[in-house]
Amino acid sequence: MWKLNDNYLKLPGSYLFSTIGKKVNEFTEAHPEKSIIRLGIGDVTLPLAPAVIEALHKAVDEMAVKETFKGYAPDLGYSFLREAIAKNDYADKGVNVTADEIFVSDGAKCDSSNIQEIFSADCKIAVCDPVYPVYVDSNVMAGRAGEWDPKKEMFTNVIYMPCTAENGFVPELPKETPDLIYLCYPNNPTGTTLTKDQLQVWVDYANKVGAIIIYDAAYEAYISEADVPHTIYECEGARSCAIELRSFSKNAGFTGLRLGFTVVPKDIKQGDVMLHSLWARRHGTKYNGAPYIVQRAGEACYSEAGKAQLKEQVAYYMKNANTIYNGLKEAGYTVFGGVNAPYVWLQTPDHMTSWEFFDKLLNEAGVVGTPGSGFGPSGEGYFRLTGFGTYENTVAAVDRIKKL
Ligand SMILES: *Cc1c(COP(=O)(O)O)cnc(C)c1O
Repeated sequence: MWKLNDNYLKLPGSYLFSTIGKKVNEFTEAHPEKSIIRLGIGDVTLPLAPAVIEALHKAVDEMAVKETFKGYAPDLGYSFLREAIAKNDYADKGVNVTADEIFVSDGAKCDSSNIQEIFSADCKIAVCDPVYPVYVDSNVMAGRAGEWDPKKEMFTNVIYMPCTAENGFVPELPKETPDLIYLCYPNNPTGTTLTKDQLQVWVDYANKVGAIIIYDAAYEAYISEADVPHTIYECEGARSCAIELRSFSKNAGFTGLRLGFTVVPKDIKQGDVMLHSLWARRHGTKYNGAPYIVQRAGEACYSEAGKAQLKEQVAYYMKNANTIYNGLKEAGYTVFGGVNAPYVWLQTPDHMTSWEFFDKLLNEAGVVGTPGSGFGPSGEGYFRLTGFGTYENTVAAVDRIKKL
């Protein structure tokens, strides 16, 4: 008799985006004449850069010819891509990560969700609150999160680390010692960052207590300030305690194409066992989720033309984020983020709940954003707007919000 993995039944369900969709539909049915501007988008909107398109076409043609046809990709990914990553993202930044510590994949969402499988079911996890929901969800499915407490809107066996205006969005070291610590910087949804010194505190802590940091740096390309680290391996001692997740989704528009990578340094060991060799056995190895064609497209992101084109895309989204940040600030809102990330995180005015502010913004300004409470209990009273729309729409939305 087959049995369910009933851990899946513990997931409270993704009400956030379905509730948003429902409310927006109701509004457009009641007011068909009103235009809606969406600033809740968590996906890129610009087309792929010309250098990427060129590499895709070329790789497709190679697949059509016997001499250059490719079957299964190598376990860790093609070395042309891993070498380009090791050089551009690490060596050129003075950081020691080698190509054979880089595992190419079909994206950071999959890796951030699968990485927990190489750890024991007994491991206790700690997450920032609010945060990207994938870290908790994957641990719920694995049976590591305990039970859902609907009153607190928390799982009973997860250490939540509040990140709010009060602590400057810098999580405090937890009282109870975790085994796995998920950190995401620049952060989704708050758009905030840690300085190198602040991140070093976490690396020292992880090494001291014997914890692993799973560091999601999907928004690395958006960093503009000098004291914000681009990789956790800028911190001393990170090679023995940190796994880093990266993605081509937000810097290169690969959300539909799918490409990312995970760094597992060979220094992370228990006895003779390297975590590196466990991750090499993960699901999907031998084809690692990323086709040859897409890995060539990823390589093109590191060409001179590719780098310049991606820089322009990131600058476009950041101009939008800056427009939201500055406009809201002028209008008297308390705003965070928007400097090293395409996300602006605002405090709702007049102590409104996140959903009350959502309704006000939709009904009175025709602007759609994302309620902060959807990312965790400490997100209550906050709201997320993103720079992923068009510049014209962003300017129009900010004007509407200013008139509220
Ligand atoms: C968008 C995003 C990712 C990227 O995931 P992909 O699977 O590579 O598209 C990873 N982490 C965070 C926090 C994100 O917001």
